[in-house]
Amino acid sequence: MSHHAVINPATGETVKTYPQISKDELEQAIASADEAHIGWSRSSSTDERAALLRRVGDLHAERRDKLAAIIAREMGKPVDEALGEVDYAADIYRYYADNAQEFLKDEPIALLSGEGSAFMRSKSLGVLIGIMPWNFPYYQVARFAGPNLMTGNTIILKHASQCPESAAAIEQIFQDAGFPAGAYVNVYADSEQVATVIADPRVQGVSLTGSEGAGAAVAEVAGRHLKKVVLELGGSDPFILLSTDDMAATVDAAVEGRLRNGGQACDAAKRFIVIDELYDEFTEKFTAAFLANSPGDPTVDGTDYGPLSSLGAAEHLEEQVERAVAQGATLASTGKRSGSFYPSAVLTDVTRDNDTYHEEFFGPVAFVYRAGSEDEAVTLANDTPFGLGSYLFTTDPEQALRVADRIEAGMVYVNLVGAGSAELPFGGVKRSGFGRELGRYGASEFVNKKLIRIG
Ligand code: NDP
Repeated sequence: MSHHAVINPATGETVKTYPQISKDELEQAIASADEAHIGWSRSSSTDERAALLRRVGDLHAERRDKLAAIIAREMGKPVDEALGEVDYAADIYRYYADNAQEFLKDEPIALLSGEGSAFMRSKSLGVLIGIMPWNFPYYQVARFAGPNLMTGNTIILKHASQCPESAAAIEQIFQDAGFPAGAYVNVYADSEQVATVIADPRVQGVSLTGSEGAGAAVAEVAGRHLKKVVLELGGSDPFILLSTDDMAATVDAAVEGRLRNGGQACDAAKRFIVIDELYDEFTEKFTAAFLANSPGDPTVDGTDYGPLSSLGAAEHLEEQVERAVAQGATLASTGKRSGSFYPSAVLTDVTRDNDTYHEEFFGPVAFVYRAGSEDEAVTLANDTPFGLGSYLFTTDPEQALRVADRIEAGMVYVNLVGAGSAELPFGGVKRSGFGRELGRYGASEFVNKKLIRIG
């Protein structure tokens, strides 16, 4: 039986299964994306592509209730958050429809010597495969598909196997918007089949968002076949608190930064690093506010957060927390795991020799650390294999820039959380991956920046 199945994490019920793609169908998918590329990149103008992409954004907005209900069922996201995600995806498609032309404009180069002119022209690469995760099923696809379709690339989309229904809904939107056949093709493929797609000479690039393991496996195949790769992997983002004139608001931001999407975001604030003089007050208030949140039915209004995306994910988190405590951490929590529902928890006294100090926790569990000085806070923040995002709270603007400069991460948000937006580049360094999504930089990853020198 296919492993592409909707298993409602709130109930454990298998709602629907989808057949895995056959070898012949996969060949057909690659062929159609390849054939579509010529027309999509050459015959259609950027205006035509923009009009279709805007329609994709509009269809997300029109279908928002239906789309939100699908992911509440597939991966347990509370419906109000799911609606927010659908709206964000719609914004992303519209943003690239409106702005990608600007990113793709010819860029003149001032010649050092010689006659004539030179400029860079942005051309599509061809067929790309996107491998996307379950945590933001619409948003993750939007930030890959939006800019790349505008560039003229065509897309084969391999969604997480637990998200087959949202994957189908997205493909339907592209069809209904009027995209030519082959411009966006959904495939229910397993890892071996994905490897054959990456290896195929008709495919020019691969973008993956997910775990380090999946990233390494895909990059290995891509490397062997000399394909361009973008990887957006895990994170263990620091939230550094150095000073505040509003502790209540800072605590609210900290809770929101950790708990969005039930804590299952790669760029969630995961490690709270607090300057000595604020540590006791912050830890007490944050723990109280954090533990006031509990998991509930994702279809009920006002639920704090839903079940984790699967029973396996909840069991894994439980194992990590138990290991943290066994190795000396102090746990504050309101209860125990029940199926896929995991209680909010705060870990303190996690020392460097605790294995979990170096791990990413994908759920409603926060670490709080004490720092004796700004220097120590930066050292702690950087003492992680990851380097995705970071959050910095201080009332001193000079300190903000000084610390922001020293943080080893792809993104630094100062005095705010949850501020990601269609125009802001997203991505990391170290084991969080490489390349960028969104913004001008995201829109330039799978582009042939072609030099044209005219004598
Ligand atoms: P995975 O990394 O396994 O899944 C992400 C995507 O990669 C899915 O489409 C998956 O397909 C695919 N994939 C996995 N292995 C391969 C492979 N060898 N070749 C090709 N494609 C592959 O995420 P998990 O669900 O296992 O999550 C585990 C951890 O990953 C989390 O705890 C978190 O640390 C991290 N994660 C990070 C995310 C982020 O936003 N950066 C998002 C999700 C997870 P399939 O579903 O069919 O296995």
